[in-house]
Amino acid sequence: MNKEELWQAILSQIQFNISQANFSTWFKNTYILSKDNGSIIIAVPNNFSKEWLEKKYNKLILSGLEELNERVKTIEYKVINIPAPQVPKVSNKSGLVTVNQLELEELTLDKYTNLNPKYTFDNFVVGPFNELAHAAGWAVSQKPGLAYNPFFVYGGVGLGKTHLLQAIGNKVGEQFSKKKIRYVSSERFISGVISAIKNQTIDEFKNTYRNFDMLIIDDIQFLAGKEKTQEEFFHLFNVLYEANKQIIISSDRPPKAISALEERLRSRFEGGMITDIGTPDFESRIAILKQKIQEKKTGISEEVLAYIASNIQKNVRELEGALKALAAWKQLHNQDIDLELAKKILKKTINPQPKGLNPQKIIAVVADFYNLKEKDLFISSRKKEIVKPRQIAMYFLREELKSSFPFIGKKFGGKDHTTAIYACEKISKEIMENEQLAGEITVIKEKIYAY
Ligand code: ADP
Ligand code: MG
Repeated sequence: MNKEELWQAILSQIQFNISQANFSTWFKNTYILSKDNGSIIIAVPNNFSKEWLEKKYNKLILSGLEELNERVKTIEYKVINIPAPQVPKVSNKSGLVTVNQLELEELTLDKYTNLNPKYTFDNFVVGPFNELAHAAGWAVSQKPGLAYNPFFVYGGVGLGKTHLLQAIGNKVGEQFSKKKIRYVSSERFISGVISAIKNQTIDEFKNTYRNFDMLIIDDIQFLAGKEKTQEEFFHLFNVLYEANKQIIISSDRPPKAISALEERLRSRFEGGMITDIGTPDFESRIAILKQKIQEKKTGISEEVLAYIASNIQKNVRELEGALKALAAWKQLHNQDIDLELAKKILKKTINPQPKGLNPQKIIAVVADFYNLKEKDLFISSRKKEIVKPRQIAMYFLREELKSSFPFIGKKFGGKDHTTAIYACEKISKEIMENEQLAGEITVIKEKIYAY
């Protein structure tokens, strides 16, 4: 394997382990600059990538090398400002995604709508887990603005929310060519608001958005706590809604479980159609795998498909990732994959570390849920945004791990055990009275056990 092929193989493994967004942020324009005597130098485009690769991804890269039987003693990252040399073209049918291919994908995003044409209804597999969301989404695509408005879809990561949202957008674009459609992630929306405020172009920003006939906003949970953005969104929402313009929203949780979401925004969402996407059953998982195989034009045996579908249950992106890993292997080694080999290739993904629950995991999930850093939970602060998540973390330590109160107190910045008792009692009591809190607790619990 030459160094280009080696890097491609590593990238396809890494892509499998991290989110698409992280992958394209950190690995775009990276390549192996040199490789000899067990030292590898990896070229990165800027200091930012260098730091992240060193700190966060070094281990992943090393284990990827190890998996490919490459003995490597040291990895060094070097900032090189010139773009990657042309990587030999890998045919699309292998399913192997190269960095160049990724760039290509970004280019295929429609300039006006920001939609990716690859997400359609035709390649969206429907099963019991998503049929309501699909049916409602289809209705919206046939009568935008009239069927269900707003249309709100929620569900866990990698279960097809973005795919469905974009399929609706693409379908509407196909049928109503005059309609101005816009897809935007809420992160991008937030940064749009921030920079418009900074550059004093907020009126322009508003006008642009008010002109759309259909607004699709993905992962709205990130608006939590962003007051100024919520305010802008609320006004925009009203303007569009009153003009019968279709609004489509996705989130990883139902509206009532999005903390720090203004009440008026929440009730707006609840005024429309809310559907969820669950986790696919075995038959649906097989159907999805077959759909993806057909798209990638790669052959994988039924037996191997059944193995993947039995072992990856909660995330369609991971199902697809497993296929990608196998396809990449097949392409590189020019070898068919039987069950034994599939098990070997997928062993890291399919048999991750034992799923024991520990305080660290609870803390990580709670901090992530409330958009905090883990260390924020330990600082001594009376701010409401910190006190509540800290009490919830304490509550979970008690409820799920049966930790002692002194242990919990100590864990959270050397507090007295009475603080821990108070926190646990307060949360237990509030759950009974406060529907929103109860919703948040349910979602957090799911996340704790989904990890
Ligand atoms: P989410 O936005 O919920 O995190 P995505 O829509 O990004 O998930 O889906 C992750 C991957 O799984 C995408 O590649 C998508 O095409 C695929 N996928 C999800 N659900 C389906 C489905 N029902 N049929 C076909 N592919 C699906
Ligand atoms: Mg998504």
